[in-house]
Amino acid sequence: MIDLSAYRGRRVAVLGLGRSGLSAACALRAGGAELLAWDDKPAGREAAAAAGLPLADLASADWASIAMLVLSPGIPHSHPQPHPVALRARAAGCEILCDVELLWRARRQARFVGITGTNGKSTTTALTAHILATAGRAAAAGGNIGRAALSLEPLDGDGTYVLELSSYQLELLPETVFDIAALLNVSPDHLDRHGGLHPYVAAKRRIFAGQEGDQVAVIGIDDPHSAHVRAALAAAGRQRVLPVSATRPAPGGVSAAGGRLIDDLEGGAEEVLDLTGIATLPGAHNWQNAAAAYAVARAAGLAPEEIAAGLRLYPGLPHRQELVATVGGVRYVNDSKATNADSAARALASYDGNVYWIAGGLPKEGGIAPLAPLFPRVRHAFLIGSAAADFARTLDGRAAWTQCGDLGTALARAHEMAQAERRPGAVVLLSPACASFDQWPNFEARGDAFRSMAQTLAANAERAA
Ligand code: ADP
Repeated sequence: MIDLSAYRGRRVAVLGLGRSGLSAACALRAGGAELLAWDDKPAGREAAAAAGLPLADLASADWASIAMLVLSPGIPHSHPQPHPVALRARAAGCEILCDVELLWRARRQARFVGITGTNGKSTTTALTAHILATAGRAAAAGGNIGRAALSLEPLDGDGTYVLELSSYQLELLPETVFDIAALLNVSPDHLDRHGGLHPYVAAKRRIFAGQEGDQVAVIGIDDPHSAHVRAALAAAGRQRVLPVSATRPAPGGVSAAGGRLIDDLEGGAEEVLDLTGIATLPGAHNWQNAAAAYAVARAAGLAPEEIAAGLRLYPGLPHRQELVATVGGVRYVNDSKATNADSAARALASYDGNVYWIAGGLPKEGGIAPLAPLFPRVRHAFLIGSAAADFARTLDGRAAWTQCGDLGTALARAHEMAQAERRPGAVVLLSPACASFDQWPNFEARGDAFRSMAQTLAANAERAA
Protein backbone atom coordinates (compact mmCIF):
# COMPACT_ATOMS: atom_id res chain seq x y z
CA MET A 1 0.00 0.00 0.00
CA ILE A 2 1.13 3.55 -0.72
CA ASP A 3 1.85 5.85 2.25
CA LEU A 4 -0.58 8.79 2.20
CA SER A 5 0.42 10.35 5.53
CA ALA A 6 0.74 13.72 3.75
CA TYR A 7 -3.06 13.91 4.21
CA ARG A 8 -2.96 13.32 8.00
CA GLY A 9 -5.69 15.27 9.76
CA ARG A 10 -7.28 16.54 6.53
CA ARG A 11 -10.88 15.80 5.65
CA VAL A 12 -11.02 13.78 2.44
CA ALA A 13 -14.15 12.42 0.73
CA VAL A 14 -14.17 9.22 -1.35
CA LEU A 15 -17.15 8.60 -3.61
CA GLY A 16 -17.47 5.18 -5.25
CA LEU A 17 -16.25 2.21 -3.24
CA GLY A 18 -15.32 -0.29 -5.92
CA ARG A 19 -11.82 -1.67 -6.30
CA SER A 20 -10.01 1.67 -6.69
CA GLY A 21 -12.23 3.64 -4.26
CA LEU A 22 -11.88 1.07 -1.50
CA SER A 23 -8.13 0.95 -1.90
CA ALA A 24 -7.95 4.78 -1.86
CA ALA A 25 -10.13 4.92 1.26
CA CYS A 26 -7.97 2.34 3.05
CA ALA A 27 -4.73 4.13 2.12
CA LEU A 28 -6.13 7.51 3.23
CA ARG A 29 -7.33 6.13 6.54
CA ALA A 30 -4.00 4.38 7.14
CA GLY A 31 -2.31 7.74 6.44
CA GLY A 32 -4.39 9.43 9.13
CA ALA A 33 -6.82 11.42 6.95
CA GLU A 34 -10.29 12.16 8.30
CA LEU A 35 -12.20 10.03 5.86
CA LEU A 36 -15.76 10.39 4.56
CA ALA A 37 -16.57 7.43 2.31
CA TRP A 38 -19.74 6.79 0.32
CA ASP A 39 -21.21 4.68 -2.46
CA ASP A 40 -24.74 5.04 -3.81
CA LYS A 41 -24.95 1.27 -4.15
CA PRO A 42 -25.45 -0.88 -1.04
CA ALA A 43 -22.78 -3.39 -2.21
CA GLY A 44 -20.07 -0.70 -2.10
CA ARG A 45 -21.17 0.49 1.32
CA GLU A 46 -21.23 -3.08 2.64
CA ALA A 47 -17.69 -3.69 1.36
CA ALA A 48 -16.53 -0.48 3.07
CA ALA A 49 -18.26 -1.35 6.33
CA ALA A 50 -16.65 -4.81 6.21
CA ALA A 51 -13.25 -3.11 5.86
CA GLY A 52 -14.09 -0.97 8.91
CA LEU A 53 -14.27 2.29 6.92
CA PRO A 54 -16.44 5.14 8.20
CA LEU A 55 -19.43 5.85 5.92
CA ALA A 56 -20.88 9.34 5.48
CA ASP A 57 -23.62 10.38 3.06
CA LEU A 58 -21.71 12.92 0.96
CA ALA A 59 -24.92 14.54 -0.32
CA SER A 60 -25.34 16.24 3.05
CA ALA A 61 -21.64 16.81 3.87
CA ASP A 62 -20.17 20.22 4.74
CA TRP A 63 -18.11 20.69 1.59
CA ALA A 64 -16.44 23.87 2.81
CA SER A 65 -14.44 21.75 5.28
CA ILE A 66 -13.44 18.98 2.84
CA ALA A 67 -10.04 19.26 1.18
CA MET A 68 -10.65 16.98 -1.78
CA LEU A 69 -12.98 14.47 -3.40
CA VAL A 70 -11.51 11.20 -4.63
CA LEU A 71 -13.96 10.14 -7.31
CA SER A 72 -14.27 6.68 -8.78
CA PRO A 73 -13.66 7.05 -12.54
CA GLY A 74 -16.93 5.24 -13.27
CA ILE A 75 -18.94 8.12 -11.79
CA PRO A 76 -19.74 10.94 -14.22
CA HIS A 77 -18.52 14.39 -13.20
CA SER A 78 -19.33 16.17 -16.44
CA HIS A 79 -21.17 14.14 -19.14
CA PRO A 80 -23.88 13.06 -19.57
CA GLN A 81 -24.96 14.46 -16.18
CA PRO A 82 -22.60 15.29 -13.33
CA HIS A 83 -23.19 13.32 -10.14
CA PRO A 84 -24.80 15.71 -7.58
CA VAL A 85 -21.91 15.15 -5.14
CA ALA A 86 -19.38 16.14 -7.81
CA LEU A 87 -21.43 19.27 -8.47
CA ARG A 88 -21.46 20.23 -4.79
CA ALA A 89 -17.74 19.57 -4.42
CA ARG A 90 -16.97 21.68 -7.45
CA ALA A 91 -19.22 24.52 -6.25
CA ALA A 92 -17.30 24.52 -2.94
CA GLY A 93 -13.98 24.78 -4.83
CA CYS A 94 -12.96 21.32 -3.67
CA GLU A 95 -10.37 19.43 -5.75
CA ILE A 96 -11.74 16.40 -7.62
CA LEU A 97 -9.27 13.68 -8.54
CA CYS A 98 -8.76 9.91 -8.80
CA ASP A 99 -6.47 7.43 -7.09
CA VAL A 100 -3.78 7.64 -9.79
CA GLU A 101 -3.31 11.33 -8.99
CA LEU A 102 -2.76 10.43 -5.32
CA LEU A 103 -0.16 7.83 -6.33
CA TRP A 104 1.68 10.36 -8.50
CA ARG A 105 1.73 12.97 -5.73
CA ALA A 106 2.96 10.42 -3.20
CA ARG A 107 5.74 8.77 -5.27
CA ARG A 108 7.21 11.59 -7.35
CA GLN A 109 10.67 9.98 -7.12
CA ALA A 110 9.56 7.04 -9.31
CA ARG A 111 9.16 7.12 -13.08
CA PHE A 112 5.56 7.27 -14.31
CA VAL A 113 4.42 5.71 -17.56
CA GLY A 114 0.80 6.27 -18.61
CA ILE A 115 -0.89 4.28 -21.37
CA THR A 116 -4.22 5.06 -23.01
CA GLY A 117 -6.13 4.47 -26.25
CA THR A 118 -9.49 3.08 -27.24
CA ASN A 119 -8.12 -0.46 -27.59
CA GLY A 120 -4.97 -2.26 -26.52
CA LYS A 121 -4.41 -0.45 -23.22
CA SER A 122 -4.27 -3.54 -21.01
CA THR A 123 -2.09 -5.48 -23.42
CA THR A 124 0.38 -2.62 -23.84
CA THR A 125 0.47 -1.93 -20.10
CA ALA A 126 1.07 -5.57 -19.19
CA LEU A 127 3.60 -5.95 -22.02
CA THR A 128 5.54 -2.83 -21.02
CA ALA A 129 5.73 -3.86 -17.35
CA HIS A 130 6.73 -7.38 -18.43
CA ILE A 131 9.53 -6.03 -20.66
CA LEU A 132 10.87 -3.82 -17.85
CA ALA A 133 10.71 -6.68 -15.33
CA THR A 134 12.40 -9.14 -17.72
CA ALA A 135 15.23 -6.62 -18.09
CA GLY A 136 15.62 -6.61 -14.30
CA ARG A 137 13.97 -3.22 -13.64
CA ALA A 138 11.60 -2.59 -10.76
CA ALA A 139 8.16 -2.09 -12.31
CA ALA A 140 4.56 -2.18 -11.12
CA ALA A 141 1.53 -2.25 -13.44
CA GLY A 142 -1.94 -1.15 -12.40
CA GLY A 143 -4.60 1.51 -12.69
CA ASN A 144 -7.47 0.45 -14.90
CA ILE A 145 -5.92 -3.04 -15.21
CA GLY A 146 -5.22 -5.41 -12.34
CA ARG A 147 -4.35 -3.73 -9.07
CA ALA A 148 -5.66 -0.32 -8.03
CA ALA A 149 -2.99 2.40 -8.09
CA LEU A 150 -2.77 2.80 -4.31
CA SER A 151 -2.46 -0.95 -3.72
CA LEU A 152 0.78 -1.07 -5.74
CA GLU A 153 4.09 -1.36 -3.97
CA PRO A 154 6.01 1.83 -3.13
CA LEU A 155 8.70 2.34 -5.80
CA ASP A 156 11.72 4.61 -5.58
CA GLY A 157 13.83 6.50 -8.10
CA ASP A 158 14.87 3.34 -9.92
CA GLY A 159 11.29 2.05 -10.22
CA THR A 160 8.62 2.56 -12.86
CA TYR A 161 4.86 2.63 -12.48
CA VAL A 162 3.12 1.55 -15.68
CA LEU A 163 -0.46 2.74 -15.48
CA GLU A 164 -3.36 1.90 -17.76
CA LEU A 165 -5.65 4.92 -17.99
CA SER A 166 -9.19 5.16 -19.27
CA SER A 167 -10.38 8.50 -20.58
CA TYR A 168 -12.45 8.82 -17.39
CA GLN A 169 -9.35 8.54 -15.22
CA LEU A 170 -7.50 11.02 -17.42
CA GLU A 171 -10.16 13.61 -16.63
CA LEU A 172 -9.39 13.19 -12.92
CA LEU A 173 -5.63 13.89 -13.01
CA PRO A 174 -5.31 17.64 -12.41
CA GLU A 175 -1.53 17.74 -11.84
CA THR A 176 -0.06 14.41 -12.94
CA VAL A 177 2.65 14.66 -15.57
CA PHE A 178 3.84 11.38 -17.08
CA ASP A 179 7.54 10.91 -17.80
CA ILE A 180 6.47 8.70 -20.69
CA ALA A 181 2.90 8.68 -22.00
CA ALA A 182 1.45 6.61 -24.82
CA LEU A 183 -1.73 7.11 -26.85
CA LEU A 184 -2.27 3.95 -28.90
CA ASN A 185 -5.33 4.74 -31.03
CA VAL A 186 -8.67 6.51 -31.00
CA SER A 187 -11.92 5.12 -32.37
CA PRO A 188 -15.45 6.06 -31.34
CA ASP A 189 -16.35 4.38 -28.02
CA HIS A 190 -17.94 5.71 -24.84
CA LEU A 191 -18.97 8.82 -26.73
CA ASP A 192 -22.11 9.28 -24.63
CA ARG A 193 -20.04 9.69 -21.45
CA HIS A 194 -17.86 12.35 -23.05
CA GLY A 195 -20.46 14.20 -25.08
CA GLY A 196 -19.05 13.45 -28.54
CA LEU A 197 -15.85 12.55 -30.34
CA HIS A 198 -14.10 15.86 -29.81
CA PRO A 199 -14.27 15.80 -25.98
CA TYR A 200 -13.31 12.09 -26.07
CA VAL A 201 -10.15 12.84 -28.07
CA ALA A 202 -9.48 15.82 -25.76
CA ALA A 203 -9.73 13.51 -22.72
CA LYS A 204 -7.29 11.04 -24.29
CA ARG A 205 -4.91 13.84 -25.17
CA ARG A 206 -4.71 14.88 -21.53
CA ILE A 207 -2.26 12.02 -21.01
CA PHE A 208 0.37 14.38 -22.49
CA ALA A 209 -0.59 17.39 -20.34
CA GLY A 210 2.29 19.23 -18.73
CA GLN A 211 5.03 17.22 -20.48
CA GLU A 212 8.17 19.11 -21.45
CA GLY A 213 11.89 18.68 -22.22
CA ASP A 214 12.97 15.02 -22.12
CA GLN A 215 9.53 13.72 -21.31
CA VAL A 216 8.21 11.47 -24.02
CA ALA A 217 4.94 11.19 -25.92
CA VAL A 218 4.49 7.90 -27.80
CA ILE A 219 1.63 8.17 -30.29
CA GLY A 220 0.04 5.69 -32.69
CA ILE A 221 -0.41 7.31 -36.09
CA ASP A 222 -2.62 4.71 -37.75
CA ASP A 223 -5.96 6.48 -37.19
CA PRO A 224 -6.72 10.10 -38.14
CA HIS A 225 -7.50 11.32 -34.61
CA SER A 226 -4.26 10.07 -33.05
CA ALA A 227 -2.28 11.21 -36.10
CA HIS A 228 -3.74 14.67 -35.58
CA VAL A 229 -2.69 14.70 -31.91
CA ARG A 230 0.81 13.68 -32.96
CA ALA A 231 1.01 16.48 -35.53
CA ALA A 232 -0.20 19.04 -32.98
CA LEU A 233 2.28 17.95 -30.30
CA ALA A 234 5.16 17.80 -32.77
CA ALA A 235 4.34 21.33 -33.95
CA ALA A 236 4.19 22.65 -30.36
CA GLY A 237 7.59 21.03 -29.66
CA ARG A 238 7.29 20.86 -25.86
CA GLN A 239 8.24 17.19 -25.36
CA ARG A 240 9.86 14.38 -27.38
CA VAL A 241 7.26 12.87 -29.71
CA LEU A 242 7.75 9.29 -30.93
CA PRO A 243 5.37 8.05 -33.64
CA VAL A 244 4.36 4.40 -33.76
CA SER A 245 2.75 2.58 -36.68
CA ALA A 246 1.70 -0.98 -37.39
CA THR A 247 1.09 -0.27 -41.07
CA ARG A 248 3.84 1.96 -42.44
CA PRO A 249 7.34 3.29 -41.75
CA ALA A 250 7.61 5.67 -38.78
CA PRO A 251 10.71 7.85 -39.16
CA GLY A 252 11.84 9.02 -35.72
CA GLY A 253 9.76 6.28 -34.12
CA VAL A 254 8.92 2.59 -34.21
CA SER A 255 7.01 0.61 -36.84
CA ALA A 256 5.78 -2.94 -37.14
CA ALA A 257 4.28 -3.26 -40.63
CA GLY A 258 3.90 -6.93 -41.57
CA GLY A 259 5.07 -7.85 -38.06
CA ARG A 260 8.64 -6.63 -38.61
CA LEU A 261 9.51 -4.50 -35.59
CA ILE A 262 11.68 -1.65 -36.81
CA ASP A 263 13.50 0.82 -34.56
CA ASP A 264 13.85 4.11 -36.44
CA LEU A 265 14.20 6.25 -33.33
CA GLU A 266 17.62 7.54 -34.23
CA GLY A 267 17.48 7.05 -37.98
CA GLY A 268 18.81 3.95 -39.70
CA ALA A 269 15.63 1.88 -39.41
CA GLU A 270 17.04 -1.26 -37.74
CA GLU A 271 14.92 -4.42 -37.74
CA VAL A 272 14.80 -5.70 -34.16
CA LEU A 273 12.49 -8.69 -34.26
CA ASP A 274 9.92 -10.60 -36.31
CA LEU A 275 6.72 -10.40 -34.26
CA THR A 276 4.84 -12.93 -36.40
CA GLY A 277 6.58 -15.74 -34.50
CA ILE A 278 5.21 -14.61 -31.10
CA ALA A 279 2.05 -16.64 -30.48
CA THR A 280 0.91 -14.45 -27.58
CA LEU A 281 0.83 -11.34 -29.80
CA PRO A 282 -1.32 -12.36 -32.79
CA GLY A 283 -2.54 -9.86 -35.37
CA ALA A 284 -1.61 -6.41 -36.59
CA HIS A 285 -3.33 -4.76 -33.62
CA ASN A 286 -0.87 -6.51 -31.31
CA TRP A 287 2.00 -5.32 -33.46
CA GLN A 288 0.79 -1.81 -32.72
CA ASN A 289 0.79 -2.66 -29.00
CA ALA A 290 4.26 -4.23 -29.26
CA ALA A 291 5.66 -1.24 -31.16
CA ALA A 292 4.26 1.14 -28.55
CA ALA A 293 5.63 -0.93 -25.66
CA TYR A 294 8.98 -1.04 -27.45
CA ALA A 295 9.03 2.75 -27.85
CA VAL A 296 8.16 3.23 -24.17
CA ALA A 297 10.84 0.78 -23.05
CA ARG A 298 13.47 2.46 -25.25
CA ALA A 299 12.47 5.83 -23.79
CA ALA A 300 12.96 4.25 -20.35
CA GLY A 301 16.55 3.42 -21.31
CA LEU A 302 16.38 -0.26 -22.31
CA ALA A 303 18.48 -1.62 -25.16
CA PRO A 304 16.79 -3.16 -28.25
CA GLU A 305 17.99 -6.71 -27.38
CA GLU A 306 16.64 -6.45 -23.84
CA ILE A 307 13.25 -5.44 -25.18
CA ALA A 308 13.26 -8.18 -27.83
CA ALA A 309 13.96 -10.75 -25.09
CA GLY A 310 10.96 -9.47 -23.10
CA LEU A 311 8.66 -9.52 -26.15
CA ARG A 312 9.60 -13.13 -26.92
CA LEU A 313 8.74 -14.18 -23.36
CA TYR A 314 5.41 -12.31 -23.09
CA PRO A 315 2.88 -14.70 -21.52
CA GLY A 316 -0.28 -12.92 -22.82
CA LEU A 317 -3.38 -11.80 -20.95
CA PRO A 318 -6.56 -13.76 -20.38
CA HIS A 319 -9.63 -12.91 -22.55
CA ARG A 320 -7.58 -11.19 -25.29
CA GLN A 321 -7.33 -13.71 -28.11
CA GLU A 322 -6.34 -16.26 -25.53
CA LEU A 323 -5.74 -19.70 -27.03
CA VAL A 324 -7.52 -21.96 -24.55
CA ALA A 325 -7.63 -25.33 -26.34
CA THR A 326 -6.79 -27.12 -29.58
CA VAL A 327 -8.83 -30.14 -30.74
CA GLY A 328 -7.99 -31.94 -33.99
CA GLY A 329 -6.10 -28.90 -35.27
CA VAL A 330 -9.03 -26.55 -34.52
CA ARG A 331 -8.08 -23.69 -32.18
CA TYR A 332 -10.46 -22.40 -29.52
CA VAL A 333 -9.82 -18.72 -28.81
CA ASN A 334 -11.28 -16.65 -25.97
CA ASP A 335 -11.52 -12.98 -26.96
CA SER A 336 -14.28 -12.08 -24.50
CA LYS A 337 -12.64 -8.68 -23.96
CA ALA A 338 -13.67 -7.67 -27.50
CA THR A 339 -16.71 -5.71 -26.34
CA ASN A 340 -16.95 -3.49 -29.41
CA ALA A 341 -16.90 -3.98 -33.18
CA ASP A 342 -13.43 -2.51 -33.52
CA SER A 343 -11.89 -5.08 -31.17
CA ALA A 344 -13.75 -7.97 -32.80
CA ALA A 345 -12.51 -6.75 -36.19
CA ARG A 346 -8.92 -7.13 -34.94
CA ALA A 347 -9.54 -10.69 -33.92
CA LEU A 348 -11.31 -11.65 -37.20
CA ALA A 349 -8.49 -10.02 -39.16
CA SER A 350 -5.94 -12.21 -37.34
CA TYR A 351 -7.22 -15.41 -39.01
CA ASP A 352 -7.21 -16.09 -42.74
CA GLY A 353 -10.60 -17.77 -42.80
CA ASN A 354 -12.60 -20.70 -41.46
CA VAL A 355 -13.65 -18.76 -38.38
CA TYR A 356 -16.51 -20.28 -36.39
CA TRP A 357 -17.49 -17.00 -34.82
CA ILE A 358 -19.43 -16.71 -31.58
CA ALA A 359 -20.79 -13.17 -31.35
CA GLY A 360 -23.47 -11.19 -29.53
CA GLY A 361 -24.38 -9.95 -26.09
CA LEU A 362 -25.44 -6.46 -25.16
CA PRO A 363 -25.11 -4.52 -28.43
CA LYS A 364 -23.15 -1.31 -28.93
CA GLU A 365 -24.19 1.41 -31.35
CA GLY A 366 -23.52 0.51 -34.98
CA GLY A 367 -23.59 -3.25 -34.31
CA ILE A 368 -21.35 -5.36 -36.56
CA ALA A 369 -22.07 -3.51 -39.83
CA PRO A 370 -18.48 -2.11 -39.94
CA LEU A 371 -17.18 -5.70 -39.92
CA ALA A 372 -18.76 -6.58 -43.30
CA PRO A 373 -15.40 -6.65 -45.18
CA LEU A 374 -14.31 -9.42 -42.78
CA PHE A 375 -17.41 -11.60 -43.19
CA PRO A 376 -15.75 -13.72 -45.92
CA ARG A 377 -13.45 -15.05 -43.17
CA VAL A 378 -16.46 -16.27 -41.21
CA ARG A 379 -17.34 -19.88 -41.98
CA HIS A 380 -20.38 -19.70 -39.72
CA ALA A 381 -21.61 -17.30 -37.03
CA PHE A 382 -23.20 -18.52 -33.79
CA LEU A 383 -25.27 -15.72 -32.32
CA ILE A 384 -26.10 -15.11 -28.67
CA GLY A 385 -27.62 -12.53 -26.36
CA SER A 386 -29.83 -9.55 -27.03
CA ALA A 387 -27.86 -8.45 -30.11
CA ALA A 388 -28.53 -11.75 -31.92
CA ALA A 389 -31.50 -10.70 -34.08
CA ASP A 390 -29.80 -7.50 -35.19
CA PHE A 391 -26.53 -9.32 -35.97
CA ALA A 392 -28.45 -11.92 -38.02
CA ARG A 393 -29.96 -9.14 -40.14
CA THR A 394 -26.49 -7.71 -40.79
CA LEU A 395 -25.02 -11.11 -41.67
CA ASP A 396 -27.91 -12.21 -43.88
CA GLY A 397 -26.75 -13.13 -47.37
CA ARG A 398 -23.09 -12.48 -46.47
CA ALA A 399 -22.29 -15.23 -43.97
CA ALA A 400 -24.17 -18.23 -42.61
CA TRP A 401 -25.50 -17.93 -39.08
CA THR A 402 -27.37 -19.84 -36.39
CA GLN A 403 -29.32 -18.38 -33.49
CA CYS A 404 -28.00 -20.05 -30.33
CA GLY A 405 -29.34 -17.98 -27.45
CA ASP A 406 -26.57 -18.59 -24.98
CA LEU A 407 -22.84 -19.19 -24.94
CA GLY A 408 -23.01 -22.87 -23.97
CA THR A 409 -25.27 -23.67 -26.94
CA ALA A 410 -23.15 -21.57 -29.29
CA LEU A 411 -19.93 -23.32 -28.30
CA ALA A 412 -21.52 -26.76 -28.58
CA ARG A 413 -22.80 -26.01 -32.11
CA ALA A 414 -19.54 -24.38 -33.22
CA HIS A 415 -17.52 -27.29 -31.85
CA GLU A 416 -19.71 -29.83 -33.60
CA MET A 417 -19.45 -28.09 -36.97
CA ALA A 418 -15.74 -27.27 -36.73
CA GLN A 419 -14.87 -30.85 -35.75
CA ALA A 420 -17.04 -32.34 -38.50
CA GLU A 421 -15.36 -30.15 -41.10
CA ARG A 422 -11.78 -29.87 -39.74
CA ARG A 423 -10.94 -27.14 -42.24
CA PRO A 424 -7.36 -25.79 -42.50
CA GLY A 425 -6.58 -23.06 -39.98
CA ALA A 426 -10.02 -23.41 -38.39
CA VAL A 427 -10.71 -21.43 -35.24
CA VAL A 428 -13.67 -21.34 -32.87
CA LEU A 429 -13.56 -17.72 -31.81
CA LEU A 430 -15.51 -16.03 -29.04
CA SER A 431 -15.13 -12.36 -30.00
CA PRO A 432 -18.56 -10.98 -29.15
CA ALA A 433 -18.39 -7.33 -30.36
CA CYS A 434 -20.76 -6.69 -27.45
CA ALA A 435 -20.76 -6.02 -23.74
CA SER A 436 -21.60 -9.03 -21.60
CA PHE A 437 -24.06 -7.52 -19.13
CA ASP A 438 -27.23 -9.00 -20.66
CA GLN A 439 -26.15 -12.52 -19.63
CA TRP A 440 -23.00 -12.21 -17.49
CA PRO A 441 -21.72 -10.05 -14.60
CA ASN A 442 -18.72 -8.97 -16.75
CA PHE A 443 -16.55 -10.00 -19.70
CA GLU A 444 -14.23 -11.97 -17.43
CA ALA A 445 -17.05 -14.28 -16.29
CA ARG A 446 -18.08 -14.79 -19.94
CA GLY A 447 -14.50 -15.60 -20.98
CA ASP A 448 -13.88 -17.87 -17.97
CA ALA A 449 -17.01 -19.85 -18.86
CA PHE A 450 -15.89 -20.18 -22.50
CA ARG A 451 -12.41 -21.32 -21.43
CA SER A 452 -13.68 -23.90 -19.02
CA MET A 453 -16.29 -25.30 -21.47
CA ALA A 454 -13.73 -25.43 -24.32
CA GLN A 455 -11.23 -27.21 -22.09
CA THR A 456 -13.88 -29.74 -21.08
CA LEU A 457 -14.62 -30.40 -24.77
CA ALA A 458 -10.89 -30.85 -25.38
CA ALA A 459 -10.52 -33.25 -22.44
CA ASN A 460 -13.53 -35.28 -23.63
CA ALA A 461 -12.13 -35.44 -27.17
CA GLU A 462 -8.79 -36.66 -25.82
CA ARG A 463 -10.47 -39.33 -23.72
CA ALA A 464 -12.51 -40.51 -26.73
CA ALA A 465 -9.42 -40.66 -28.97
P1 ADP B 1 -8.17 -2.30 -23.60
O1 ADP B 1 -7.51 -2.45 -22.29
O2 ADP B 1 -7.88 -0.98 -24.25
O3 ADP B 1 -9.63 -2.60 -23.62
P2 ADP B 1 -6.96 -4.85 -24.37
O4 ADP B 1 -5.49 -4.89 -24.44
O5 ADP B 1 -7.61 -5.40 -23.15
O6 ADP B 1 -7.47 -3.36 -24.61
O7 ADP B 1 -7.56 -5.58 -25.66
C1 ADP B 1 -8.96 -5.73 -25.78
C2 ADP B 1 -9.33 -6.20 -27.16
O8 ADP B 1 -9.11 -5.12 -28.06
C3 ADP B 1 -8.47 -7.35 -27.68
O9 ADP B 1 -9.08 -8.57 -27.44
C4 ADP B 1 -8.37 -7.07 -29.16
O10 ADP B 1 -9.46 -7.65 -29.83
C5 ADP B 1 -8.52 -5.57 -29.25
N1 ADP B 1 -7.25 -4.84 -29.38
C6 ADP B 1 -6.12 -5.00 -28.64
N2 ADP B 1 -5.16 -4.15 -29.04
C7 ADP B 1 -5.69 -3.40 -30.03
C8 ADP B 1 -5.20 -2.34 -30.84
N3 ADP B 1 -3.96 -1.86 -30.72
N4 ADP B 1 -6.04 -1.83 -31.77
C9 ADP B 1 -7.28 -2.29 -31.92
N5 ADP B 1 -7.80 -3.30 -31.20
C10 ADP B 1 -7.03 -3.85 -30.26
